[in-house]
Amino acid sequence: MKTPHVIVIGGGFAGLSAAVALASSGVQVDVLEARGELGGRASSFRDRGTGEWVDNGQHVLMGCYHETFAFLRAIGAERDVNLQHALEVTFVDAQQQLSVLRCPAWRPPLNLAGGVVRWDGVGWRARLSALRLGRALRRARAGTARPLDDLVRPGESVAQWLARHGQHGELCTMLWEPLALAALNEDPARASALPFVRVLGRMMGASARDAALGIPAKPLVALYGEPARRRVEAAGGRIRTHNLARVRLAGDRIVGVEVRDVRRPGHRPYVEGDAVIVSVPWFDLPRLFIDETQNGGPGAMAAVCHAAAETAASPIVSVNLWFDREVLPCAFVGLPGRALQWAFDKRAVLGENASHVTLVGSGASATLRQSNDTLAALAIEELGAALPSVRRASLRRTLVVREPRATFSVAPGQPARPATTTAVPNLVLAGDWVDTGLPGTIEGACLSGRWAAEAVRRLLGMG
Ligand SMILES: Cc1cc2nc3c(=O)[nH]c(=O)nc-3n(C[C@H](O)[C@H](O)[C@H](O)COP(=O)(O)OP(=O)(O)OC[C@H]3O[C@@H](n4cnc5c(N)ncnc54)[C@H](O)[C@@H]3O)c2cc1C
Repeated sequence: MKTPHVIVIGGGFAGLSAAVALASSGVQVDVLEARGELGGRASSFRDRGTGEWVDNGQHVLMGCYHETFAFLRAIGAERDVNLQHALEVTFVDAQQQLSVLRCPAWRPPLNLAGGVVRWDGVGWRARLSALRLGRALRRARAGTARPLDDLVRPGESVAQWLARHGQHGELCTMLWEPLALAALNEDPARASALPFVRVLGRMMGASARDAALGIPAKPLVALYGEPARRRVEAAGGRIRTHNLARVRLAGDRIVGVEVRDVRRPGHRPYVEGDAVIVSVPWFDLPRLFIDETQNGGPGAMAAVCHAAAETAASPIVSVNLWFDREVLPCAFVGLPGRALQWAFDKRAVLGENASHVTLVGSGASATLRQSNDTLAALAIEELGAALPSVRRASLRRTLVVREPRATFSVAPGQPARPATTTAVPNLVLAGDWVDTGLPGTIEGACLSGRWAAEAVRRLLGMG
């Protein structure tokens, strides 16, 4: 029997997790990636000044990222994430007071309740207000497989949802808002409450570890890009970087995938497969399809392309600082109420391979357009005000990384997200923006990748 052949367009978490799943079940996979390296919005590059690997932004995993950990396990990389046993976060508040939220390893949601009630980072009233969320959290937890719409009012924002559930302002500022900003990459006053409640539901999973945080112990390219490449190639598949793909359609039929090797202008071979997985981000989708019967329009994919073009993006800004010594008290610190809400000590997690601190600003519409000098000065000012150790250290280098389209916006009023299957029978979609119900995260990308691989297997009659 002929080995089935599947083309995967896009080499981020979604495309690679789909490719690995298919390669592991005997499918010949061809991954086409436009850029010179794998990873997409979760990638690394060499810093010219120091030669160190720098990620395009700090990526944090959670214990409830079950799809992501399954993918990492499949490529032998699960151990390369430092996952806490239970949620523990060090915060420095606006008055420069340092406190540690330490959740016991109790059954959720008791773990969170126990951690917050014992946390001296907020006053008693604020701590006790967390208990008012108990019913909603239990329902969100039980409802992870059921719709949760009844928990959220139409058009309700995260901030409104928290207020309706009696959350004290201090607890919102110190815990819920930084958590929502990090998970949704959107201002809690704008972000829809539904994806936030879904995230909370997943954090309150079967074990206390579901709420724990995981920090990659390798640069992203080494964590999953290259191991995924090795896994696919070992199974006889191919990964081709520098290959910009376009899908030629005729009605609801794929004519072929045109590939432009960006290093060889004029060279545009076609590749053909039994099925195509498109895992490009929403903002690249409208340029992907050419319908030969419709003067080059997107043909059967028009509705999905139109929705993609209407989908707003939300930015993330990262500022990397090289000091002459270690300045953070632990691997990462939450800085609630600041423009850059988290600081990560890359030396603590990457060892000798890195010596910088990365500050991250999520939902960064207000800071995105500021100059590099302004952003670096802001980072130094905010970190220095929070930690005396920073004021004693000498700064060696700064590097700003902007990701204007880091994630799709979860503000209300966005177009519906697409399903895995499309109007073209042997073309399926993957990517964090596919309708998984999750915000734009690695977990959403990996889940969409698994769904795409399963849809293709069904299509090929492989069960
Ligand atoms: C700075 C930053 C920080 C983040 N932090 C977190 C975090 O802490 N936790 C978390 O869970 N998530 C985080 N995210 C979100 C996470 O990175 C994304 O949700 C995830 O990486 C999306 O993966 P993907 O495969 O769906 O898309 P992408 O990573 O965008 O991959 C799509 C790939 O398709 C390629 N492509 C596009 N067009 C073509 C074409 N025509 N031909 C061939 N290839 C093409 C692109 O080059 C790209 O490599 C962060 C994102 C950013 C930017």
